[in-house]
Amino acid sequence: MSSPTRPTAAIIGAGIAGLACARVLDEAGWRVTLFEKSRGPGGRMTSRSLAAATVDIGAQFFSVRHEAFRREAETWLKAGLIAPWPWKLWRVTNDSWHYRHDGRERYAGKPRMSAVTRHLSRGLALEVSCRIVSLARDNGRWTLQDQARQHHGPFDHVVITAPSPQAQGLVAPHDSRLAEACEGVIQRPCWAAWACFDQPLATAPGVSPDWQAVMFSDGPLRFVARNDHKPGREQQGESLTLLARLEWSEAHLEMHETSVANSLLTAFRKTLPDTTALPAITAIGGHRWRYAQPDVFAAGEAINRDYRLSANGLALCGDGWRGPRVEDAWLSGHHLGHALAASD
Ligand SMILES: Cc1cc2nc3c(=O)[nH]c(=O)nc-3n(C[C@H](O)[C@H](O)[C@H](O)COP(=O)(O)OP(=O)(O)OC[C@H]3O[C@@H](n4cnc5c(N)ncnc54)[C@H](O)[C@@H]3O)c2cc1C
Repeated sequence: MSSPTRPTAAIIGAGIAGLACARVLDEAGWRVTLFEKSRGPGGRMTSRSLAAATVDIGAQFFSVRHEAFRREAETWLKAGLIAPWPWKLWRVTNDSWHYRHDGRERYAGKPRMSAVTRHLSRGLALEVSCRIVSLARDNGRWTLQDQARQHHGPFDHVVITAPSPQAQGLVAPHDSRLAEACEGVIQRPCWAAWACFDQPLATAPGVSPDWQAVMFSDGPLRFVARNDHKPGREQQGESLTLLARLEWSEAHLEMHETSVANSLLTAFRKTLPDTTALPAITAIGGHRWRYAQPDVFAAGEAINRDYRLSANGLALCGDGWRGPRVEDAWLSGHHLGHALAASD
């Protein structure tokens, strides 16, 4: 179907929120174009391909709580894009390892976290390596300008899914209410690091050799995942993703990425008995997420309004408007898509 009267939308950001919104609008017959500053879709569900391993450097897994998200996750499961993980989860308290069995439903992308976002982006118009720097409104329609001064549009609607501090700069010249709403959402930073090894990790006494992930109660670390113990990656060599606690990330925001990775690996090593040596490292690195996780998010008491819409065709969605998880981001984008489709 191709009709000149189909509404048009530009969506800034091809993370899970932007893609969820795009899918709803596309199904409703809108003409949607996604603009993504990175080289591919994924956002904070991205993975990095190294010579020895594919490591997830953003979300490590996601949980399923809401019915609409459960239905969506079931389609991903059937398509082989996700699989349950982790189900062998440990917790470290005072350097002591305990098996954590809470029975919660969790999934990881297969064979990488970004399998989900790549799948969702299929068939949609997506401009990558395209950072939108400003918006202009003319005759009731929106034009976008990118970092290379190229113009895109016009569009009837613009959906911004960038973390709120970045979204604020785009909406401020056009809508003070939206800009103010962005100010109320705090996104905290997180350092993510990875280390690849030439051998599997040695077994620590009292810990099952096939542990998949571990959460930490204190210290610099909050989560460590074994990438080769994730679904679809059994053939790759041993590698860890190490996520720092948010407070530690804030205190070490300007540290060099290799120093961060070494510090986090040392912290992990200290939780193992002295007799358990780490294998030789073949690759190590880090990624700083300046806006990793909403600490104060906007939905709060009004969880049904997990997005923002203005009368002039601007809209905001993403985890900052609902909560700090993949599921929250998806729901925010999904709900905004339905609200826009219903408004047409
Ligand atoms: C290290 C880390 C670990 C996490 N672990 C978990 C976990 O285990 N479980 C869980 O449920 N959640 C986890 N999360 C949170 C989860 O990843 C996020 O809540 C979710 O992915 C956010 O999706 P989003 O679409 O709202 O935002 P994003 O994924 O950030 O998408 C926004 C997109 O907009 C793009 N963009 C920004 N500005 C522009 C611009 N000007 N022009 C064009 N494009 C732009 C960005 O590149 C990005 O791709 C984690 C996050 C991090 C950082």
